[in-house]
Amino acid sequence: MNPLGAQKAKNLRRLIVVGQGAAGLCAAVSAMTSALASGVDLSVTLLDAAPLADSGGNTRWSPSNIRLQADHHVAPGFVEAIVAESSGLADRDYFQELADQAPAMADWLVSLGVVFQSPPYYLAKGPARIQPVGGGVALINALLARARELGIEFVYEFSLTQLLTDAGSVVGVLGTDAHGRIQTHHADAVVLACGGFEGNSGMRKAHLGAAAENYRLISHGTKYNDGAGIRAALDIGAQAAGDWRTGHAEPVDPRSQHPAPVVLVYPYGVVVNAQGERFFDEGAGLMHETWERFAHQMQFELPSQQAYVILDAKLLNIADYARAIRSDVPPISAPTLEALAPALGLPLASLSHTMSAFNAACPVDHQGFDATVKDGLACAPVGQPPKSNWARALDQAPFLAWPLVGALVYTFGGLKTNPNAQVLGDNGPISGLYAAGEITGHFYQIAPNSVAMLRALVFGKIAGEQLVRDLRHSAAM
Ligand SMILES: Cc1cc2nc3c(=O)[nH]c(=O)nc-3n(C[C@H](O)[C@H](O)[C@H](O)COP(=O)(O)OP(=O)(O)OC[C@H]3O[C@@H](n4cnc5c(N)ncnc54)[C@H](O)[C@@H]3O)c2cc1C
Repeated sequence: MNPLGAQKAKNLRRLIVVGQGAAGLCAAVSAMTSALASGVDLSVTLLDAAPLADSGGNTRWSPSNIRLQADHHVAPGFVEAIVAESSGLADRDYFQELADQAPAMADWLVSLGVVFQSPPYYLAKGPARIQPVGGGVALINALLARARELGIEFVYEFSLTQLLTDAGSVVGVLGTDAHGRIQTHHADAVVLACGGFEGNSGMRKAHLGAAAENYRLISHGTKYNDGAGIRAALDIGAQAAGDWRTGHAEPVDPRSQHPAPVVLVYPYGVVVNAQGERFFDEGAGLMHETWERFAHQMQFELPSQQAYVILDAKLLNIADYARAIRSDVPPISAPTLEALAPALGLPLASLSHTMSAFNAACPVDHQGFDATVKDGLACAPVGQPPKSNWARALDQAPFLAWPLVGALVYTFGGLKTNPNAQVLGDNGPISGLYAAGEITGHFYQIAPNSVAMLRALVFGKIAGEQLVRDLRHSAAM
């Protein structure tokens, strides 16, 4: 090698990014872009456990609703709302950075060819959101195209198991390839963007509880997120954060094999268990305020882990009702409630008793019914939980029902990171280690609506920029 070549090789810095979802792709592209802009000679390799055709993790299957206004800014009170929902446990500085950096991230994605729209909410209103046209696949395609232009290398079917360290700094990763052979990749910096532990039944059981072991996963890509990145970082002294006991889940139709076959019209009907009894207040809040708890209730509190939502013909008069039903399997339909019970396999006497008591308690005048807001149409049936909104007697044929189960989307427990996307150990940032997206632990108690994708994108981008700053700083010393 000539002296110039030797000098160039000496200056070359290597980055390993683990995980090819939104967070990993943003980190890889932003790191290479920052390196080019600041004269750092960087090579970037992105490793993913999935084969190419399946790569993209949860991101590929996500409609990717992003809690930003059409002007790419967060709505007023964004940080305060998230901190309040977490009972004060959320890291205010982290979410403030998310709010501050979100507009630049969204503008950057637009510059890479992503087109955003402002989608209507399911039926009930919720926070302002934008969404890439084409969903998560469009994000992946835009970022992959840019990554390829930048010469980023991709390795598929590599499963990370361990981080390599030297004198407290992360210097690479170890894992297995498609044939189970051990492979190592040395690096000057590593970004972990390999998701939560939702795809790992043992970790689900250990942290969420025994009934989580058989939790249905919301999409095909969810299974790859095996928690190995979290464990590898904890093994070298990273701090844990986030709510390890729970995660985000949604009610889906178990008959459908499609990704995320959600049925989100349950607030407008009655939900019963296998005994034909109501067990929660279907109208306790707007849909995005109740769906996660409802899904967990089915999984953890019902012995059969399945429920049934029952509606009547009035559903068909709710504007755009079909937008809230993503199951490809038609509902079970019957001309009477008596005929519906055997069709669902529910005990007739019990279901009739439930429905009679419910119908008798509903307001006679339901002119004020409004599916889009908490309309205050409430009832308190004897011997049943109340229904706080949208309480209308079910009395018009045909009667329609969907079976429902909970489906896990992502877990909350993960790594502690600061607003620079640096992974924190007991003595501050761990040198050479960054993390973004689901692998980081920042959610507590309930998922802040439409923030999961936002934080993957924003902190992925921040990780790439920060690590290049750190590489320059270390080179200057
Ligand atoms: C159906 C669905 C709907 C959703 N809807 C929304 C929504 O509307 N709004 C919103 O904000 N969020 C939504 N989410 C959640 C959001 O999409 C995810 O939180 C986000 O995409 C996570 O991005 P990520 O990059 O952190 O992880 P992922 O996209 O999951 O990527 C992780 C990658 O790491 C790889 N990997 C995992 N383990 C390893 C390992 N050991 N070694 C190597 N590679 C590994 C995986 O193969 C994967 O490619 C939804 C998710 C799903 C599935």
